[in-house]
Amino acid sequence: MKPQKAAGFQSLNEGIGVFNAKEKHLLIPQMNRNVSHLFAGALRSFDIHARVLETCKDLDLGREYTSGKECLPCLITTGDILYFLKKERNRLGEDFNPDNYIYCMPESDGPCRFGMYNKYQRIVLDSFPELRGVKIGSLTSRDGYSLDGMLEGESIWKFRKAAYFGILVGDILNRIAWRIRPYEIEEGLTDQFIERSMRVIADSFEANGSENNFNRILDHVEEIIEEGKTIIDPAIQRKPLVGVVGEIFIRSQNEANQDLVKTLERHGAEVVVASIAEWVNYTSYNRMRDARTDLRLNIKQLRPRQVIRNLKSIFDFGKNFYYQQFMQTRSYKRLRSSIDIAEDHKVAHLEKMLDREDVFSFDVGTEACLSISGLIAYAGQGFNGVVNVYPFTCMPGTVTSSIAKPLMNRYRVPYLDTPCDTGLQPGREGTVRTFMYQVYQHFKRNGRKN
Ligand code: SF4
Repeated sequence: MKPQKAAGFQSLNEGIGVFNAKEKHLLIPQMNRNVSHLFAGALRSFDIHARVLETCKDLDLGREYTSGKECLPCLITTGDILYFLKKERNRLGEDFNPDNYIYCMPESDGPCRFGMYNKYQRIVLDSFPELRGVKIGSLTSRDGYSLDGMLEGESIWKFRKAAYFGILVGDILNRIAWRIRPYEIEEGLTDQFIERSMRVIADSFEANGSENNFNRILDHVEEIIEEGKTIIDPAIQRKPLVGVVGEIFIRSQNEANQDLVKTLERHGAEVVVASIAEWVNYTSYNRMRDARTDLRLNIKQLRPRQVIRNLKSIFDFGKNFYYQQFMQTRSYKRLRSSIDIAEDHKVAHLEKMLDREDVFSFDVGTEACLSISGLIAYAGQGFNGVVNVYPFTCMPGTVTSSIAKPLMNRYRVPYLDTPCDTGLQPGREGTVRTFMYQVYQHFKRNGRKN
C-alpha cells in the first residue's frame, strides 16, 4: 500500500459517523482482550461480523503515520488498523472490498484529544486510495455511546443491553484473573484458563446475546469460576491490595502499559484495575447530570420547549444509567457469592467523595474526575497502595497525578505514577519494587481489606 496526499476533508463528514453494521465486518480495537472479545461476541449475535483487531503487532506502522504529538492510544490504534487492512488486502487480493469494513473508533468530547483520533485516522486512511471506502464508525459520549443507527429492524434496546453486558462480563473476567493469578498453584495456569474461558463466554454471548438471555451467560461464568477456584493454592496467604486507575486505554491494555498488573503481581501484590463499565456508566450519568443542570436554568427562565427537551434527555440517559447500574449490581452480587472478586465503584458515590474532598469536580469532566475519586475510594476501602497509569503527556493523567500525590500523602497510602510511551522503560521494574516495599509497610501496619 502506498500513501498519497489526502484529497480533501469532505470524508470527515461522509466517512465518519454511525453506519448500519449488519452484514459488515465491524473492526473492534483491542483495548482490553477480554472486554473486546465479549463485546464482539454480543454484536455477532445480531448478525454483525464483529472482529477484534490484533494489537501492537507493528508499532512502527503506527509511528510512521503519526507525528509524535498524538497520544499513545492514537498511535497504537492507527498501527493496528493499518496492520489489519494490509494483511486483509494481501489475504483477499482482488476480492478485497473496503466498503465491507467499518472500523469502530469511539470518541469523547474532551477537553482532551480523544475526540480527534477518528478524524486523524480518517485522514490517514484517505491517504491510501484503496482504503478510502473503509468507514469509521464513531460512537460518541455525547449520547452516552448510544448504538442507535447501527442496526435496522431490530430492537436497539436489546442490542444496547447485550453490548453493555459484554463489557460488564469482560470486566468481571478480568477481576477473576486478578483474584486467581497471585495465588495460582502453578505459574501460567491462570492465563491459559482465562484465555479458554474468554472463548467459552464469547460463544455464549453469540448464542444468547440477541435474546438477552443473560442468566444463561452468568450460568457459564459460574461454571468457569468453579474451575478457576481449583487453580488457587489455599496455602498462599492473602497479599496486599493495590488499586490501579488512569487513562482507560492504557490501563486496560497490557501491551501498552508494559504489563503493569503482572509486574505488580511479581512483586507481591493482588491488583484491581478500574473497570471499563465505569466509563460507560459515567458517560450516561454525566449526560443525565448535564440535562438536570440545563433543566434548572430553563425552568428559571420559563422556556417550556427546552424544559420538555431536558426532561426527555433526563429520562433517556437515566433509563440507560439505572439499567446499567442495576445489571452491574445484580451480576456482581450473584458472582461474588462464588468468588470474592472486588466490587465496582458506583459513579454517584465517586462524585460524592470528590465533592467531600473538594479537590476536583465532575463539572470539569474527563477521566481525571473518575481517577481522583477512584483513588479516594481505594484509600477509603483500605487498599495498601494505589497506582495512576497514563500515556506520557496525557492531560487528564497529568492532572490526576498533580492532585493525587499530596492527597494520597494525606491518606498515608503509597502512590505511584506510571506514565507510558512506546519505549520500554528500563527503570519501571525498580520503581515498582520500591513502591511495593512501601505497600508492604502499609500492609504490615494496617492489614488489608477483607
Ligand atoms: S485521555 Fe489522555 S491519552 Fe486519551 S485522548 Fe485525552 S489526553 Fe490523550
